[in-house]
Amino acid sequence: MPEFRQNQATKEWVILAPERGKRPSDIKKEQSKQKPLPEYSKDCPFCAGNETETLEPVYVHPEENDWQVRVVPNKYAALQPQLATTRTHVGSFLAAKGFGIAEVVIEHPRHDQTIALMELEKVANVLRAYRQRQIEISKNDKINLVTTFRNHGRRAGTSLEHPHSQIIATPIVPPHVRYPMEQVVMHYDHYGTCVYCDMLSEEIHQGERIITESDNFAAFCPFAARSPFECRIYPKRHTASFTLIDGSEEIVELAWLLREVLAKLYYGLNNPDYNYVLRSAPVGDHDTRHLHWYMVIIPKISTPAGFEIGSGIYINTVAPEESARFLRETEVTR
Ligand SMILES: [Zn+2]
Ligand SMILES: [Zn+2]
Repeated sequence: MPEFRQNQATKEWVILAPERGKRPSDIKKEQSKQKPLPEYSKDCPFCAGNETETLEPVYVHPEENDWQVRVVPNKYAALQPQLATTRTHVGSFLAAKGFGIAEVVIEHPRHDQTIALMELEKVANVLRAYRQRQIEISKNDKINLVTTFRNHGRRAGTSLEHPHSQIIATPIVPPHVRYPMEQVVMHYDHYGTCVYCDMLSEEIHQGERIITESDNFAAFCPFAARSPFECRIYPKRHTASFTLIDGSEEIVELAWLLREVLAKLYYGLNNPDYNYVLRSAPVGDHDTRHLHWYMVIIPKISTPAGFEIGSGIYINTVAPEESARFLRETEVTR
């Protein structure tokens, strides 16, 4: 029987229609066989040895000896840092020059790595680079939102195989981010609690959508998941901004959980394409009591079509309870 479910934070609805869907084993079979990648590719600008192909790095770890993580300005950036932020009018329409900061996080010197399979400390180094760059970029008083994300595979929007993620910082907080914030402020005003903290404790209480947990984080498929195998990782400690994560122990714990979820997708669904996004409070809202940073991982199993575009209501053909059970039971071999 199909069912409507509401996202408690954004108030958006989804439709769960599992009988239309396929079983995880069918989804796994559909993923095409990928050929193994080489350790080094001479045409890849991100491989160790090809550093002259990128712009000067803004972050390198470690600073001496061979690098493990490099962050470079995006050579083909959609936004540029030297432009003004002033809004102008085109007739009665509003516009502004494309000011912004776009960087690429090169996650590993080797071409054939991916976060699902990396050593734990290497994953932690990638997260430390996200944190450090977000702190630095947030000092720019024209920047209002920093979005960190990873596109893995062609269906997720990248043709570059080398393990990398991106950071794009904008002067604008768009309606897509701002409008749900009004809902979470209202929740705070009604109940005096952070809606994300409430959702997390309800997910932990109900238990059936939890994938895995640690002392300070939980990974789950949310009650109103928009697509099959959508996963979220929430910190248990209320924190609005990712910049406030503890850079030593907490970040290693998060690295473990993120790698675990990605490895379960890798082994369980045969390395599906995915996007993940680190959602963190806008720059001026780092201390708020109503916002809560989190990571969302969206495997590209389904494609939003006419109904989704028309109504904003997503039809999810795999119940999050089923997705979570499948991922819980997927063994990760290291
Ligand atoms: Zn490469
Ligand atoms: Zn919270």
